[in-house]
Amino acid sequence: MKLKYLGTAAAEGIPALFCSCPLCKRARSLGGKDIRSRAQALVGDDLLIDFGPDTYWHMCRYGLDLSKIRSLLITHAHEDHYSPAELDYRRRPFAYLSGDKERDDKDFPTLDVYLSKGSYDYAGVKFHEENYLLSAPLTFHRVWAFRPFTAGKYTVTPLTANHWPDHEALIYLITDGKSTLLYAHDTGLFPQETLDWFKENRPRLDFVSFDCTGMADGHDTGGGRHMNLYRNKITREQLTELGCGTEKTLWCCNHFSHNGKSTHAELVGIMEKEGFLVSYDGMEAEF
Ligand SMILES: [Zn+2]
Ligand SMILES: [Zn+2]
Ligand SMILES: [Zn+2]
Repeated sequence: MKLKYLGTAAAEGIPALFCSCPLCKRARSLGGKDIRSRAQALVGDDLLIDFGPDTYWHMCRYGLDLSKIRSLLITHAHEDHYSPAELDYRRRPFAYLSGDKERDDKDFPTLDVYLSKGSYDYAGVKFHEENYLLSAPLTFHRVWAFRPFTAGKYTVTPLTANHWPDHEALIYLITDGKSTLLYAHDTGLFPQETLDWFKENRPRLDFVSFDCTGMADGHDTGGGRHMNLYRNKITREQLTELGCGTEKTLWCCNHFSHNGKSTHAELVGIMEKEGFLVSYDGMEAEF
């Protein structure tokens, strides 16, 4: 399986939109891996995870043809992960399959969007009051934690995140039959029901992408609903004890906030010693 990180920041981005903190100042002058757009990832060339405000920038930066994306998984409806208004541009006259009217009417394939009812309802005003998305070739599927579903060639199992209980935030386990990715953000330490699911099902994990909003903080701080290096280590231990993580598993820290105060190079210096990869925008992994 191939994973490409399109964006690797928390909600405000690094540098953050209106911020002049020391890290944001350094990021502006360093550029490169210190410019982090809002979190989004591409699996293979046909499955996209999240659809935040930097999707347009990601399409331009990486030369993506988003018409090829067949499935879109939404983790939750926080605005850095889901900008449903942008989906309106997936219809004529904003998007053409070929420019041939008859073919476009007939053949424009649907995009399957998978999300919890909590995410759908939170963004519901845009769907129901303005009503525009109903005419676009989009199919919305409600998904439930712990109920696997098929998205193209992938089997996807949503799991409960410890993030936004009122709005059914999810993390996703994705397998193509050969390898398995756990895309685990946004979330704090896993809730018991998610740990119980791992205990019962024991999937072998090839790649784990962790919420590391608090960056290299080695203490149990940073609020209940995100993680930092300390919590990433605890979660890695929990998954390893269950046999889901092995010596072959790749563990990657992702979804960073400027409040963690570290540049990419500083994070690499701290985290690689601990056995974690450090994501950056454009990073690719194959496993
Ligand atoms: Zn986020
Ligand atoms: Zn800042
Ligand atoms: Zn969030």
